[in-house]
Amino acid sequence: MLPRLCLHSLFLAAFAGHALASCSYGTHLHPRAEGEEVPVNTFAYTGINGPMNWVALAPETNSICATGMRQSPINMVDGVFHMVPSSDIKLEIPDFTEGAEFENLGTTVEVVAKGGSLQLSEANYTLRQFHFHLPSEHLDNGTSIAMEMHMVFETAEKDIAVIGVFIDLDNGGSPATEDPIATPTPTAAAKRRGFHLRRQESSIAPSPTGSFGGVQGFLTVPMIKAPGITSPVLETVFSKVGEIKTPGTRTSTPPLAMGSVVQAIMGGSFQSYSGSLTTPPCKEGVRWFVATQKLQISTATFESVRSVIGFNARYPQNTPGQPNMLQLARAQV
Ligand SMILES: [Zn+2]
Repeated sequence: MLPRLCLHSLFLAAFAGHALASCSYGTHLHPRAEGEEVPVNTFAYTGINGPMNWVALAPETNSICATGMRQSPINMVDGVFHMVPSSDIKLEIPDFTEGAEFENLGTTVEVVAKGGSLQLSEANYTLRQFHFHLPSEHLDNGTSIAMEMHMVFETAEKDIAVIGVFIDLDNGGSPATEDPIATPTPTAAAKRRGFHLRRQESSIAPSPTGSFGGVQGFLTVPMIKAPGITSPVLETVFSKVGEIKTPGTRTSTPPLAMGSVVQAIMGGSFQSYSGSLTTPPCKEGVRWFVATQKLQISTATFESVRSVIGFNARYPQNTPGQPNMLQLARAQV
């Protein structure tokens, strides 16, 4: 399938002052043939083509952006999600030993996956790509995080599941705390892979049992600010972001040890809810799994990514099941 080209991307970039636009998930889920043009999208995150007006870009396909009652992202607070322990899902992503394609879609930077699967009890999904938002789209109990990674999976029937992973800033190497409750112990496998646990803010204590994955603990404590795990994979991917500053460009990453990412996020649990794509056409029925385990990158790396992405987060939507924010506004203005 030929990618949809968004020819006014240059106008958008000039209009908003930085690279904007990216094609809808529905058009870039599938890896493209080698040499095929990288699609650059038409929507934006600010101005007239921003989230408040996405429906106007293509009313016939984007109407749900302005009417849907299960739109994403949302504020991840107690009561809007149910906790899924990692033992309930099977996540497998092979190491990308030959590296992977890394491209600038205008509205995000994206790695095209070379395999990977998410198996739930009722469905099997294939990893298509993972991309990044800056700042985070979901809020962590009311708090915006530096970035968010979306790992997009799809079934043969085109059903979509997304694993969202908060990416915070490495605090510069302060020593891990000795507090046995506030700081989980990395698994032996994590140690073998060279993870470095570092203390982050910990404003909410974990469950009395000390379990970071226990469902019971999360029923009363919506988000545990567990220490982030420094991610060599993200550092490796972003080491190449300077090569794709221009929308529509691509490069190749060095080899990516994706197993380390799986190891990290499967060490926590997942806050799950039924939502939507966070970009046009805002399709609903998307199964979201927001990882409780954050990843970390260095401040210097974050700044390099920010210089390319700029800003690409849709504003938080209403609680799932409640009226669309735009319909509410329309009734009041
Ligand atoms: Zn996304």
